[in-house]
Amino acid sequence: MDPIQQQIKDSKLPLEPHALIFPIPFQGPVNGALKLAELLCLSGIHVTFLNTDHIQRPLIRHTDVLSRFSRYPNFKFETIPDGLDHENPVSGDRFQEVMDAIDAVTKPLFREMMVSGRFSRRSQRPVTVMIPDGVFSFAVEVAIETSTPVISFETISPCCLWTSYFNLAPLIEAGCIPFTGNDLDEHVENVPGTEKVLRKRDLAVFCRLNDISDPEIQRTLEEARTIPRAQGLILNTFEELDNLILPHMRRLCPNIYTIGPLHSLHKSLLKPKPTQKSPETSSSNSVWKEDRTCLLWLDTQAPKTVIFISIGSMVTLTLEQLLEIWHGVVNSGKPFLWVRRPGSITGGYDESQVPSELLVRTKEMGCIVDWAPQEDVLAHSAVGGFFTHSGWNSTVESIVEGVPMICWPCYVDQQVNSRFVGEVWKAGIDMKDSCDRFIIENAVNDIMDVNRDVFTRATNKWANLAKESIGETGSSSINFARLIDDIRIMSSTMK
Ligand code: UDP
Repeated sequence: MDPIQQQIKDSKLPLEPHALIFPIPFQGPVNGALKLAELLCLSGIHVTFLNTDHIQRPLIRHTDVLSRFSRYPNFKFETIPDGLDHENPVSGDRFQEVMDAIDAVTKPLFREMMVSGRFSRRSQRPVTVMIPDGVFSFAVEVAIETSTPVISFETISPCCLWTSYFNLAPLIEAGCIPFTGNDLDEHVENVPGTEKVLRKRDLAVFCRLNDISDPEIQRTLEEARTIPRAQGLILNTFEELDNLILPHMRRLCPNIYTIGPLHSLHKSLLKPKPTQKSPETSSSNSVWKEDRTCLLWLDTQAPKTVIFISIGSMVTLTLEQLLEIWHGVVNSGKPFLWVRRPGSITGGYDESQVPSELLVRTKEMGCIVDWAPQEDVLAHSAVGGFFTHSGWNSTVESIVEGVPMICWPCYVDQQVNSRFVGEVWKAGIDMKDSCDRFIIENAVNDIMDVNRDVFTRATNKWANLAKESIGETGSSSINFARLIDDIRIMSSTMK
């Protein structure tokens, strides 16, 4: 008999730790979850990585994940249907469609698989801990039903999770949501830790809805109720960055593992040792093809002169917004690298709709790509500023590299993140709720020239603290080691 099966049969032996990682099928969460998976593999944990069909297709098409992970005998990909037949990843305007399809198709299949132990038979090992994305409340329910330990992995920002998820029910009870009156600048007094920081406009954008029966609000309330029922919560942050809110959050979820910046921890733990010959190959987890030629373009630019523009994997722009940003950046006179993700301009556009002076100036001072190796771009010495939609991964990646941000948030956690960037971390400018070429031009000049010293003092401080946190004795390294220990302990007590 296979020794592993023998071991499972022999009830006296403890089960080997086997984590089932289950991300929500969007670029940011899948990227983070793969990094976590690789770190667990390196620590000797068996990992089954469960992707839904629709995200696995482009992931495999555009990356070398299959060969890269084949070096880990303790890693396995599994896929589960999600009822979506899109060939390419979808934008955020179809988020509800994705969640509805997952609810209808994936959720019952997932439960059936876990209850019947089909995962166990296929991978020969019982799952001893589940690590689903925080949004998958149903996975926590299934874990509880099957007595499987579960640790939620929340890929949105802790500041949003705290202010707009965990505090959503209290804010509704206090009569603060739905908002009364039109003053979005009114301070939100009843979220512990952020009383002096948060205005109504800085809460997640669904807090502006008038109807609390809206599916987004209901899903958020459910997520906030479910996460504290898991045995732990993994967050992509470091203690110093979120010390305003973490003590409050720990009252609700005592077992929080802050292991961020996750991509930096990943890089540092995968760095070849001096005795190892082969350098690490690219570790792209992009679901679009990365255009690395933009790095060559950056090589031709002077240090700290380029503004990098990206709205991540889900946000879309109207043509009007595109043109306002375009004019603003061009008028600032700064060279720019702009990611225009395929499908990210609502309704598309062609050059006849773009004023010719923009096209001419762009040829002189700009570089436009479909998708960039963002971590490398932000680390490039030519990049001096980041015009971002304030997605949490982008925010953390920028903080690590000490790049000041101009924040133009759209949804999910972005409204909260941009406020924290501007007001708490002083790492950039929050220009939410506006999209005006003059404001953009001023903001670019402000972070690149006028107040560059002020911003870089703050961003350098955070970059250094981020690096310390993943050092040998840093808080994130210690928390990651504790996570591994806890996974082993949870697995050893499971039968
Ligand atoms: N990203 C990338 N290339 C690009 C644009 C984005 O690799 O051209 C990556 C970026 O590094 C980040 C992720 O896509 O890790 C976007 O995640 P984020 O949380 O910032 O935003 P979302 O896409 O979820 O809105």
